[in-house]
Amino acid sequence: MQQVAEIAAPITPSAALRRVAFYMERSRAGSYRVDAFRKALATVRELGDDAVAGLVADGTLTDVPGIGPSTAEVISQAVAGGLPSRLATLQANAAAPLEEGGAELFAQVRGDCHLHSDWSDGGSPIDEMVLTAVELGHEWMVLTDHSPRLKVANGLSPTRLRRQIGLIDQINTALGASFTLLKGIEVDILDGGELDQEPDLLDELDLVTASVHSKLRMANKPMTERMLAAVRTPRVNVLGHCTGRLVEGSRGTRPQSEFDAEAVFTACVENDVAVEINSRPERCDPPDELITLALDLGCLFAIDSDAHAPGQLEMKRYGCARAERLGVPAERIVTTWPVERLLAWSRAR
Ligand SMILES: [Zn+2]
Ligand SMILES: [Zn+2]
Repeated sequence: MQQVAEIAAPITPSAALRRVAFYMERSRAGSYRVDAFRKALATVRELGDDAVAGLVADGTLTDVPGIGPSTAEVISQAVAGGLPSRLATLQANAAAPLEEGGAELFAQVRGDCHLHSDWSDGGSPIDEMVLTAVELGHEWMVLTDHSPRLKVANGLSPTRLRRQIGLIDQINTALGASFTLLKGIEVDILDGGELDQEPDLLDELDLVTASVHSKLRMANKPMTERMLAAVRTPRVNVLGHCTGRLVEGSRGTRPQSEFDAEAVFTACVENDVAVEINSRPERCDPPDELITLALDLGCLFAIDSDAHAPGQLEMKRYGCARAERLGVPAERIVTTWPVERLLAWSRAR
């Protein structure tokens, strides 16, 4: 992976809005603020950059629904041929890497096993996630929208997931060989350890990330049984944010779930399931001591963004910094593997 290349004037209004939104997401701006730019981008794409330039000339740009003063300013400055001032500031602020550590590992990352589109609770369409991943130097990524029971996150029914699989085939045909979008899911681990999706449908996917999202305060023994059952289910490839903790952020904090980590990680080794290092700063999951335990037990790892917006794909920097500091070798991190090796591993289950 790499940082996105700097952009210079002249640029189109849509390119300017797109890059503004990316930098805001990267720096963890509130989603309602970013949404204004993402919505304006969708509007400008629909109208076309030339028609938008006409509206600027007529002085009627802000009459268009979805274009407010902030987005109109970016559009007008791009139409005038300059680098919009908001973009110039954001770009200057983004010159430094998100995190100092982990640079060597970050450069070796080729993919991502956990990210969301607007099909579930992400903020952008699939093609926008793909385009940004390509710009960041990814070779592959697995689309892992939520499963049916997670209604608050608009989890995908079997019918919707089947439709998404068809769309992914179309996207890959259009992409050619330089990048591969893989079929996946972040499937809920239900209370008894069952997975929240039809087994046959899971079999059709390239990779399955399984996570606990409910009853995080379960007692140690049933939580351990629940996680063991999930890890032992054929088709699970990655155990997502295993402790469920939140260490900061707008959702507040939450302690880690209680479970026998040694038993669960041992099952991960026995069943060839990778332990996710979730890069989101508010999750920072698993904690250091559990990464060290998983490392000592012989686990594989997946450094994932859990991105809900394109700019968040770069958050893997944070996971890389932690993994490098704790001495996790790149060889044991599946997200540094070429896509052929990744698929040989994930489909072997
Ligand atoms: Zn999750
Ligand atoms: Zn997720």
